[in-house]
Amino acid sequence: MAPMTAELLNKAPAISEAENGAVRNVKTPATGAATVKCNPVLSDQQKTSIRGTVAELLKSAGAGKPLVSLGVGDASAFPCFRKGSELFAEAVAGAARSGLFDCYAPSFGFPFARRAVADYLWKGIKKQQKQEQAQEQGIREGDVFLTVGGTQAIQVCVTVLARPGANLLLPRPGFAPYESACELSGVEPRYYDLLPRRGWELDLRQIRSLADARTVAVVLINPNNPCGAVYSAAHLLQIAETARELSLPIIADEIYADMTYGDAKFLPMASFAHLAPIITIGALSKRWMVPGWRLGWVALYDPTGALKQVRVATEMLMNVTSGPSSIVQAAVPSILSDSHEEFHKNVLAQLESSADALYERIQQIDVLHCYSRPQGSMFMMVEVNTSLLYGIGDDMDFARELIKEESVLVVPGSVIGLKNWVRIFFGVPASLLEEACDRIESFCRRRRVSKIAL
Ligand SMILES: *Cc1c(COP(=O)(O)O)cnc(C)c1O
Repeated sequence: MAPMTAELLNKAPAISEAENGAVRNVKTPATGAATVKCNPVLSDQQKTSIRGTVAELLKSAGAGKPLVSLGVGDASAFPCFRKGSELFAEAVAGAARSGLFDCYAPSFGFPFARRAVADYLWKGIKKQQKQEQAQEQGIREGDVFLTVGGTQAIQVCVTVLARPGANLLLPRPGFAPYESACELSGVEPRYYDLLPRRGWELDLRQIRSLADARTVAVVLINPNNPCGAVYSAAHLLQIAETARELSLPIIADEIYADMTYGDAKFLPMASFAHLAPIITIGALSKRWMVPGWRLGWVALYDPTGALKQVRVATEMLMNVTSGPSSIVQAAVPSILSDSHEEFHKNVLAQLESSADALYERIQQIDVLHCYSRPQGSMFMMVEVNTSLLYGIGDDMDFARELIKEESVLVVPGSVIGLKNWVRIFFGVPASLLEEACDRIESFCRRRRVSKIAL
């Protein structure tokens, strides 16, 4: 990975290839050539993808000030989040140098790497259980499938469950790749609300009313992107009981597992596998801050055998798709080992102080509102009172005008299901976050409808 500093990023706006690549000019075909038709699902993707919207917004970035991106969730470029991460790179370099991993990996991943993920996940579950409750079985390496980041894990889950007429229950606000995966597989996404006034807990009554005979699963993101919530054991139990009542498996997106701070504690959903089958999604991307390495996983927790067909289908799918790079797989045992305490402690300390600082600053701005201090992940949802802002009709206007005037990028909430909210990423160095807050504050002050005018 090229060494980059925050200063460097400040001068050259941090626009990743992926963000850039989302928008390309389509050349008009040469005279006489017929336009080649494509999958209609892919003809209008700009609308639902975060990256598409971000690329659109970046076009209107003001030239005056260096860009501060609080958009796409990638903290890996900032040295303050990388203390101790050299060890991860060493493991990959060692694997590359050995020449032993230039081969294809097996379809589901190298057995030793799957074993390492299984052990890591099992340790997380065991840690939470009292000795006498500890389940015997553990997780076997055969329960783990290695994927190209968390995104392929999402695609695998949705593709495997995509029966004709199927629908999938997704959180709102949510994570756009679930919706895209549904569209590509012909699955109907159905949205249940996360409740801002109740710490972004799931609206379980709504889940019950949305579910029908064609519902294939409930998706849960914990710790939560975009809300920063970390669900209590009591709430997770309610969710598991609801799933059992409805006879549904839970897809537990635990990409931010253990990325919690303050009093919040992460509890793996697999702790409730005796109530409902759990399909867990994870990746190295966020907790280890190496999203570009593209290593993720799907793990099946199935004490009752309910996921028998899901397992076979997953194996069949993995046999015809391509998995993560062999050399990154080879580094997994070393990366998942216990020995990176300092690295994780530093990341969490940084995120906690960023979360607190952002929360405090937002509370000071009267047209913005955040209902709860983030307890995990790297995101916060902020409500925008557009009725008090000149020339701003909705969250899209807010994000567009903000980047135009202040070169600060935030994700408009409507892209992830919540109109007139914005998602703010806070995995950036403290000084940069402060700068962004200053600019957001002066933007809001400038646009504020005067109290006298009311
Ligand atoms: C980042 C993220 C993912 C996907 O991770 P990648 O490994 O970058 O593909 C999945 N789910 C959530 C909620 C995420 O925030």
